[in-house]
Amino acid sequence: MCIICQKKPEELIKYKNIEIYNCNKIISIPNNLINLVQIDIGNCKNFKTIPCELVNIGSIYINKCPEFINFPTNLQSLQQLFISNCVKFKRVINYFPLLHTLILENCFCLIDIDKSFVFLETLMIENCPLYTRKNIYLKTIQDITNFL
Ligand SMILES: [Zn+2]
Repeated sequence: MCIICQKKPEELIKYKNIEIYNCNKIISIPNNLINLVQIDIGNCKNFKTIPCELVNIGSIYINKCPEFINFPTNLQSLQQLFISNCVKFKRVINYFPLLHTLILENCFCLIDIDKSFVFLETLMIENCPLYTRKNIYLKTIQDITNFL
């Protein structure tokens, strides 16, 4: 059981950082986590979605969540997004206006990345064969714009 399963939603409001590992129960996180700045989710078999109400979220790490497929909506404050080993994850097509770092590894179903990430400064794509056969590691806005 992770912290989300253990605590009531109103007890979670104050949290700025949450780590959730090895929970097979969690599907989403409560949408009242308005102070949350960073979330790290790993090896959660049924985890599916991030709610759009996370108005302060800056960093999201998602690893080994086989049911995580898409972001349902926009996260206006998101700056860093790391997705690895999410075998059904398909698209980064939502508009995250402040995103500067995007890391995608071993997402075997990835087919699309939005072309409008104007602040993106780091883009790494490894082993996402449906999107690109090459491994990509780009560190300038110019190179990223040219690539996307
Ligand atoms: Zn849990």
